[in-house]
Amino acid sequence: MTNIFDTHSHYADHAFDEDRAAVLAQLPEKGVKYVMLAASDTRDIKENSRLSQEYGYIWSSAGIHPEYAASVEDGYMELIRETIKANPKVKAIGEIGLDYHYEGYDKAKEIQLFTEQLELAKELDMPVIVHSRDASADTLELLKKYRPKGVVHCFSGSAETAADVIKLGMYIGFTGVITFKNAKKAVRALEAVPMDRLVLETDCPYMAPVPFRGTRCDSSLIACTAEKAAEIKGIPVQELIDITCENGKRLYGIE
Ligand SMILES: [Zn+2]
Repeated sequence: MTNIFDTHSHYADHAFDEDRAAVLAQLPEKGVKYVMLAASDTRDIKENSRLSQEYGYIWSSAGIHPEYAASVEDGYMELIRETIKANPKVKAIGEIGLDYHYEGYDKAKEIQLFTEQLELAKELDMPVIVHSRDASADTLELLKKYRPKGVVHCFSGSAETAADVIKLGMYIGFTGVITFKNAKKAVRALEAVPMDRLVLETDCPYMAPVPFRGTRCDSSLIACTAEKAAEIKGIPVQELIDITCENGKRLYGIE
């Protein structure tokens, strides 16, 4: 397979500290053409930007994940702005959103953090990478209010929520989760997403698809996710990869 676009990955993650350079050097040989790095905290924002300057096929985003809503250092909005200004390969604000899953989450702080970053995306006319976990209703409400362009990643909502996201003009990203046995809801959502709004992602190092589930994931494993998606959509796998690659380029404004 060629032409793979991994639209959401975390290569600054410590899981890659031992062999990051070796992994990143091999991906293009394995058919990976583009990689988008998602940022979760201020360290990621800096590291992602650096990696995207080092590797031609890697692009990056800058944003604070909702899990850091209560702990993020002051000055993060300036850091996001400066990073975008300094590096033309920073193409999105993300990952941002709402996560009501983990213990001790602070709803009000998460909404405030998400809102500030949605406002910045509107001001700079940039796409957002949205993370939403157990928070579909509130996420949709804010997306309807701000109408950003962008993607809802690692989609875990219902087919109805997918339809609402599509109506807002956004893309929807699916991970290796669609290959899991218990993934009926994700499969139904994927069925509901039109081909021109579908993108693939790993969310690596997490979410390795079957038969690699539980191991460290990298962008080359999108091949397994693409096979499952192609089966669901009833089209040849390379055709699905080609279409989702074009979608990813349009989503992030990459030539
Ligand atoms: Zn992520």
